[in-house]
Amino acid sequence: MGKITGFKEFTRELPSKRSPEERIQDYKEFNTMFAADKLNNQAARCMNCGIPFCHSGCPLGNIIPEFNDAVYKENWEEAYTILSSTNNFPEFTGRICPAPCESSCVLGINKPAVTIEEIEKHIIEIAYSKGLVKPKVPLIRSGKTIAVIGSGPAGLAAAAQLNKAGHLVTVFERDDRAGGLLRYGIPDFKLEKWVVERRIQIMREEGVVFKCNTEVGVHILADELLRDFDAIVLAGGSTMPRNLPAPGRELKGVYYAMQFLKQQNKRVSELEVQGEEILATGKDVIVIGGGDTGSDCVGTSNRQGAKSIIQFELMPVPPASRTESMPWPTYPMILKTTSSHEEGCNRSWSVNTKEFVGDENGNLTGIRIVDVLWETDVFGRPIKFAEVEGSERVLPAQRVFLAMGFLFPQKVGLLEQLGVELDERGNVRAQEGVYQTSVNKVFAAGDMRRGQSLVVWAISEGREAARRVDQFLSGYTSLESKDAESMYA
Ligand SMILES: Cc1cc2nc3c(=O)[nH]c(=O)nc-3n(C[C@H](O)[C@H](O)[C@H](O)COP(=O)(O)OP(=O)(O)OC[C@H]3O[C@@H](n4cnc5c(N)ncnc54)[C@H](O)[C@@H]3O)c2cc1C
Ligand code: SF4
Repeated sequence: MGKITGFKEFTRELPSKRSPEERIQDYKEFNTMFAADKLNNQAARCMNCGIPFCHSGCPLGNIIPEFNDAVYKENWEEAYTILSSTNNFPEFTGRICPAPCESSCVLGINKPAVTIEEIEKHIIEIAYSKGLVKPKVPLIRSGKTIAVIGSGPAGLAAAAQLNKAGHLVTVFERDDRAGGLLRYGIPDFKLEKWVVERRIQIMREEGVVFKCNTEVGVHILADELLRDFDAIVLAGGSTMPRNLPAPGRELKGVYYAMQFLKQQNKRVSELEVQGEEILATGKDVIVIGGGDTGSDCVGTSNRQGAKSIIQFELMPVPPASRTESMPWPTYPMILKTTSSHEEGCNRSWSVNTKEFVGDENGNLTGIRIVDVLWETDVFGRPIKFAEVEGSERVLPAQRVFLAMGFLFPQKVGLLEQLGVELDERGNVRAQEGVYQTSVNKVFAAGDMRRGQSLVVWAISEGREAARRVDQFLSGYTSLESKDAESMYA
């Protein structure tokens, strides 16, 4: 523990952000870095609790009190060694993790939680600046070959770990760049793409081979991979978006969020945008869906100069603070105001979409909506809704972005060819902790297995699946696990 009285002396502080007016002029990240004394004070707030709940709050099992102590002592090598022992990509999680660790921070019971995510980002960026993050090429190669399908955080984490174990790893990616949703999904203002490319370059230097523009199931068949590789890791993500099949869905102006966001990622990187250009410039924009993806559509629409932006959510407005059904240290489902919301957007809850309205040329002109009233269970959780009589109305809209989540992975191609069993939700069936699918030597990790989730979970699954693959190929594994007991399983 860095400073015994730290949590009494210092309050939680975050680095400043560029103002909303300034930051919507570009797509760059807008959080600044802490000055050295501020970082030191924030690390000093960690109480080094007897039972650090943050450990289990973090899906990676990050060893938080220990790295806070090293930061307080400005021992950067130690801080980096501790952090990188559980997390392959702190530069991603330090920027975009919703930080469930902070929700379970013991200090959070009666004071604001330790700024764990920011400290994590500072450790890795300081480590990069000091030249501590170097490619580590394995000294011995096993001669075993592994195909990882998908280069999102799950595929990258599995590839990094399996390469570290000495296996020969090839990552297949159907997009023209590696990174999955980190590359084409999450906007640059949350995660600039040089951050992703910096890490992929290190992995290349460590010996991981990336084959982009290669869709398994189309450009290379599943059978060929089964023939040519000793093991396969499926990390293709959950890519089928939830539709809103209301009348008028076919109108020009109604798009899935990912059609819109991916194009903007490409523009920022000065890559060619193929097909119809989807822009919010000068338009009345309605975003349907209140999660991360919806919020990213809001931030992107503001940067493109939308005329107005409204975000709708069918569910009722969440509570402002914890309720009895979401006590500490659980991750609370409370009202979240993101940096994109701060930049300007009207938010409405308990709203249902009845129709997309268009003109004679097939262009979207408006959206017919209705307010709904939710019935709740004894815990206050919404169970069913009824329309509020007389609340139906049409709002002007020339762009609607559907951001209502993802259903399951694409089945056509890869999954059909492999014939892997799916679970009741349509994801690849593979038990958590085991990651083996119904097909011999084929493993699955990340959103493709658990359904749409978070970057931190994808990294965690990639790492844990890598251990199972290593065990399968070598009969044992020395790769680290977040679960101390399973280290010896
Ligand atoms: C817009 C948006 C914003 C988000 N923001 C956040 C956030 O702020 N914080 C957070 O924690 N999470 C966020 N998420 C969720 C997070 O991005 C995902 O949970 C995470 O990326 C899942 O990782 P993955 O590796 O399982 O899959 P993905 O990142 O989806 O990667 C899968 C990759 O597999 C490739 N692929 C699929 N099939 C094939 C095939 N047959 N052959 C070759 N390649 C294939 C795909 O092209 C893709 O690149 C966001 C999601 C979206 C959509
Ligand atoms: S990865 Fe996320 S949950 Fe884990 S310590 Fe970092 S911010 Fe917290």
